[in-house]
Amino acid sequence: MDSRSWPCPPCGEIREFVQPPCADGHTADGGACPEWACVDCGTAFVLGDAAVVTEVLRLQHAA
Ligand SMILES: [Zn+2]
Ligand SMILES: [Zn+2]
Repeated sequence: MDSRSWPCPPCGEIREFVQPPCADGHTADGGACPEWACVDCGTAFVLGDAAVVTEVLRLQHAA
């Protein structure tokens, strides 16, 4: 399974994120599901939008 490391605000640290099985049909047309969940706390983020990552980084920096 693909995984990424991002700062997780609830965890307050870099965590591994994985993609849960897509239930919204994002992959039905061969596309990539933008949803990622923290393997530690389960917090989910919808990515594919650089602003979201920036927001996560900002929250991490402010913590
Ligand atoms: Zn999806
Ligand atoms: Zn987390």
